[in-house]
Amino acid sequence: MNIGIRTFGDTNGIPSRGCVWPMDRVVHLGFSAVPGFVIEVTSTEDLKQDDAIAGIVPRLASMLGLRGDGHALGCYPRAVAEWRSSEFLSGVPDRFEIWQIRREHPCTANCCCSLPGLLAKEFVEFFLRDVAGVDISDWAEIDRQHLAFAGAKRDYQLTESELQGIVDEYCNTFSNRIGSAFPISLEEQLRYSLTLITRRWQSELARKCKRESSWLSIAVRRLFWSKIEGLAASGIATFDIASDSIHLEACAKERGLEDLLAGTGTVSQLDQFDHVERSLSKEIRRAAATLNSTGVEQCRLCFYAMESGILIDEIVNVPASPETLLRRIADRCGAGSKSWKRDLKGIQPADISMLLMPRLVSQSADLSFLASGLAGAGGCATGHLCFDSQQIRDNVNAGVPAIFAAVSPEPEDTAAALTAAGIVFETGGATSHIAVISRGAGKPCVLGVSDMQISPDHSWATFGSRRIDQGSWLTIDGTAGTIYAGRATLHHPDLASLPSLQTVLTECDRTASIRVFANADTAQEAATAFGYGAEGLGLCRLEHLLIRPEPLPVLQRVLASCWACSHIIEELAYLRTQVSEYPSSAGARAELARAEQLANANSIYAAYTRGIEQLRGHLVPELAAMFSVAGNRPVIIRLLDPPINEFLGETAPALFADLGLSAQEAAKLVAAVEEPNPMLGARGVRLCQIAPELTVFQIRSIFEAAMAAGGTIDHDVWIMAPFVIDAAELKGLRSVVETYLRQENLLQTRRYHLGAMIETPRAALMAGELAVVADFLSFGTNDLTQLTWACSRDSAETTFLRRGAYREFASPFVSFDEAGVGALVSLAVSRARRNSPSIQLGVCGEHGGEPQAIQFFASHGIDYVSCSAVRIPVAKFVAGQVGTQSGAADGMH
Ligand code: PEP
Ligand code: MG
Repeated sequence: MNIGIRTFGDTNGIPSRGCVWPMDRVVHLGFSAVPGFVIEVTSTEDLKQDDAIAGIVPRLASMLGLRGDGHALGCYPRAVAEWRSSEFLSGVPDRFEIWQIRREHPCTANCCCSLPGLLAKEFVEFFLRDVAGVDISDWAEIDRQHLAFAGAKRDYQLTESELQGIVDEYCNTFSNRIGSAFPISLEEQLRYSLTLITRRWQSELARKCKRESSWLSIAVRRLFWSKIEGLAASGIATFDIASDSIHLEACAKERGLEDLLAGTGTVSQLDQFDHVERSLSKEIRRAAATLNSTGVEQCRLCFYAMESGILIDEIVNVPASPETLLRRIADRCGAGSKSWKRDLKGIQPADISMLLMPRLVSQSADLSFLASGLAGAGGCATGHLCFDSQQIRDNVNAGVPAIFAAVSPEPEDTAAALTAAGIVFETGGATSHIAVISRGAGKPCVLGVSDMQISPDHSWATFGSRRIDQGSWLTIDGTAGTIYAGRATLHHPDLASLPSLQTVLTECDRTASIRVFANADTAQEAATAFGYGAEGLGLCRLEHLLIRPEPLPVLQRVLASCWACSHIIEELAYLRTQVSEYPSSAGARAELARAEQLANANSIYAAYTRGIEQLRGHLVPELAAMFSVAGNRPVIIRLLDPPINEFLGETAPALFADLGLSAQEAAKLVAAVEEPNPMLGARGVRLCQIAPELTVFQIRSIFEAAMAAGGTIDHDVWIMAPFVIDAAELKGLRSVVETYLRQENLLQTRRYHLGAMIETPRAALMAGELAVVADFLSFGTNDLTQLTWACSRDSAETTFLRRGAYREFASPFVSFDEAGVGALVSLAVSRARRNSPSIQLGVCGEHGGEPQAIQFFASHGIDYVSCSAVRIPVAKFVAGQVGTQSGAADGMH
């Protein structure tokens, strides 16, 4: 029979299995390898009899280092057989684990006592299905009956003897179908496995494909139980040769390697690892030196640690880490090589965000999983659990980070929430107001945590069945949307410490076909965004500037009172139009003067106008700071868009206390504002009609701020109107701007640009008309998605979308709906460009920072995307990736 058997290292010519190094290569490099052998079939001649396999198996078993009966080590000996072939062999798993199964429990306490039943069940299942080819369709029924009998839901809840009952029944099924007992010894299983492979090698199909040079090789190697076989530990060392770094994970459990590979092992860093003390560290460094000589960039070494050194289980080439790839690209850019553009494709945008987000240094043993929700804003945070603004303040004052948890954000909480390290809400969606704000501020945030219930007195919360008290440590991962009990150590990376990424992003700027702006609400956020390389601000939401403890009550009062005295506002607006249309009419002027006198005597109207002045006092310095930070870069300021539900909280009636109104009168005022559906109500540019004074004040504040920031720079003013549906709204706004500039004698000197947000389906359809009156258009894909889908951006993700109503879209608020919303964008772009070919088109909804969506926008001729500061590097990276595939384009100046 043409089978060659040799132990590892006897020759050096066996092909590797994918990225796994052949054991021969491992041995030839001087490493000690686990016992094992290779069976080689190098001839096309068929293997005549199964008996041949049976004949060699006892020899093979002893080569694996097993004693005669295979039990002497006091454990369950096991091995793994892997095959490779020049031909495709159908229906054969490429990896077989084989075990000695024992009926009596051989182990003493502290070893694998709790494992065998479950492992045996798993193994027998695999063997019957994949090796013996037994139809397992009725096994679910066997499981179901045993679980029901034991009153358990899952097999891990069963006792050893209950599991043994299932295994026995599986084995009986095997005997009934195959006609012989289930092979419980390792030798028998090895025989089964080898027979399966070699039979396939002789199959009709394989025979037709085989050529003179065809080959088959089967490598079999021993697997160990670290602890019970007297080994110190098992572990995985990942070598990044390029950066000379080693990441070591080691585990002293029974199935250490499997647990580590499955991510369930307890991990120790090299310098914290004390199971085998210094000798392991020395061995690993020696291995690194050896690997260095092979020219490999990154590889993973799985090993068993013994007193005398390490025993290699396998060495696997692993894809280079994002850090390594970035370094390589940066080096190639530096050397003037063009090949870096190809390498750019090898990095996932998600890897770039991970590099810059605060993350857990290690999964501390203290952390235990509590609940999951929606990933609201990326990064990790750890702090004391707090339920209200006062608790947050107390923590912040005491220098302890806070994690703010609430059912849903009350407007009054927003400012306090932003002083917390992280935010958790029971409700909400990926583009909810609070998610957008926390993303902008770089605060990790988890939303839609339906498993969380907060006690009415704000002293504890339950997460499922676990109660966590206020002041206990909580850790959240806003990238994964997970919450843990306990305190974590965090790593806070920054761009300055990643020079390769900086170099790569600079190169990306050169090739980008779409520009990257930032959504920022404060000068500080703007500075962070510019630090990340934003080319301008694509969206500064005025209402976010006013949602702070001081101006918020003033804004709320202005919003409530403009409704309460709308009849006065309306009359004044009418009379002012009359005066401007008939300037020589003394009657019109007198009537206006009389109406103004009456209006000023009205306490609510007076509160409205006084409030507006106060707001100006807040806005001008804030905006001036923003202009100063921006320098020559464009700053697009969006007029107020305050949906009433988000801005008038439960405390609103108290706002009118100083007007001498009773609680009922005040409550009536606020009730008058309540719209049944505020997200479709008088928000955005519609407010201009209800409260023209509010519009004039915003225009004035923006121009005053630009002039105050002045210095040597003559800041252009970019004003954007939200929630537009018609060109008439924009024309009205332009006339307000021009009237103001005329009055201030600035019409000839101040350059300004007026834009419209395309965030309603009608605006998208009317983009052609809007482009005629607008200087630029910006897609607000949050509202555009909400309105196109007729889905609330605040609740759809935690209700019916969560149930998988639209499988393809876990959430259209997270991944851009190219087919639906994208079709509207595409239509709007073509209509706008038809009427105004050079009009600047941008995207400032959250999708502006989503890699896939950026590609879509770039390919549809959008000039810029605008996203929160933390997403700028990813957006720039994707813009560069897209640009390397197309040509670079000009953008906004
Ligand atoms: C949008 O709707 O996409 C947008 C940017 O506006 P906001 O999120 O403030 O509603
Ligand atoms: Mg919007």
